Amino acid sequence: MAAVPRVTDAYDVMRIREDFPILARRVNGRPLVYLDSAASAQQPATVIDAVAGYSREHHANVHRGIHTLSQEATALYEAARERVRRFVNARSASEIVFVRGTTEAINLVAQAHGRAQLEQGDEILISWLEHHSNIVPWQLLCEQTGAILRVVPIDRRGVVDNDAYAGMLGPRTRIVALAQVSNALGTVLPLRELLELARRRGITTVVDGAQAVPHQRVDVQQLGCDFYAFSGHKMYGPTGIGVLYGRESILESMPPWQGGGEMILSVSFSGTTYNHLPHRFEAGTPNIAGAVGLGAAIDYIEAVGIDRIGRHEQELLASATAQLASIPGLTLIGTAPQKSSLVSFAVDGIHPHDLGTVLDSEGIAVRTGHHCAMPVMEFFGVPATTRASFGLYNSRAEIDELYGAVLRAIRMLR
Ligand code: PMP
Repeated sequence: MAAVPRVTDAYDVMRIREDFPILARRVNGRPLVYLDSAASAQQPATVIDAVAGYSREHHANVHRGIHTLSQEATALYEAARERVRRFVNARSASEIVFVRGTTEAINLVAQAHGRAQLEQGDEILISWLEHHSNIVPWQLLCEQTGAILRVVPIDRRGVVDNDAYAGMLGPRTRIVALAQVSNALGTVLPLRELLELARRRGITTVVDGAQAVPHQRVDVQQLGCDFYAFSGHKMYGPTGIGVLYGRESILESMPPWQGGGEMILSVSFSGTTYNHLPHRFEAGTPNIAGAVGLGAAIDYIEAVGIDRIGRHEQELLASATAQLASIPGLTLIGTAPQKSSLVSFAVDGIHPHDLGTVLDSEGIAVRTGHHCAMPVMEFFGVPATTRASFGLYNSRAEIDELYGAVLRAIRMLR
């Protein structure tokens, strides 16, 4: 397996960039400026090599083989689970369920936990800034059980109304499901306080951590949540792998979700007996290579240091915010005091897709659209925004490039 990068004390972004082969690409004849990490972050060579190394040298199915490769594959898969456990500080690896991504994790909770627990008239509380994957699974559950979905409002900055939230926690609230960071606005929610209020009432708490884990230290025990969902591809890992953390006592109480191989208690030929959890929720052959890649991504993040990454990205955010805000006719969408690593904006008279196309012609990759958060767009009265999102490999020079290119694009499109 590839070695973990050696990182010195200073945050040397140019050195870090060398770890990401794709950043050497040119796009439309220009050096790539990748500002779409909130959709999918790029992978360091260590992740690419870990996946390739697994496929070249260790691949076999996990958990049911006596032969050497199967045992190696199982060891690598379970080692990745342990890395994830440590990364989010879960009490036990039994609490770490590998899934396809955040979307699958939330659907799992809705169907395996919610469907068994909720009755007609029970309430599920979410916020206005949620991604569709933290809205639609609950709407489906409401259709199936007769439960009611309630939505906590946000203000014009994109901040969730804490008082409204507290007032909406009622005797019938059974589930609170909140993002830790908004993918459309960048708002960081004060989750510890919000979840504490729910926990005191015995309400099940679910966190969509997709936009949090790449940027800030996450400790599920400190947060006190029952479930925490995230995706590998937003944290420098492969696509098709993600994690559902579930508090052991609550996972134990849940019926299985999907049926098939792996999800029943069994004894392997090598004599290893696995606990009922987490395999009950991993029916069928899992994404072994993906888990190995995710483990390598965590190693990479830890080698650079999540706190240093967060500080670097806050500098990028401050610089991007100041520069873009100075552009006449440009409105920042999402101005919460606590923000994570992205800027979303609208420009008077210019459709975001046109802006995005012009930026792409200069090699600058941003995302334009509703960002799977249509209620947020509706709230701000825009059909779409342009979003530039930052990762640990972005530089101040790239923010300057973005600023210059936006100015040029506005001149061209007006
Ligand atoms: N929640 C948030 C906040 C997201 O940003 C995303 C991805 N855009 C998701 C959920 C869904 O993640 P995935 O597509 O990896 O399942």
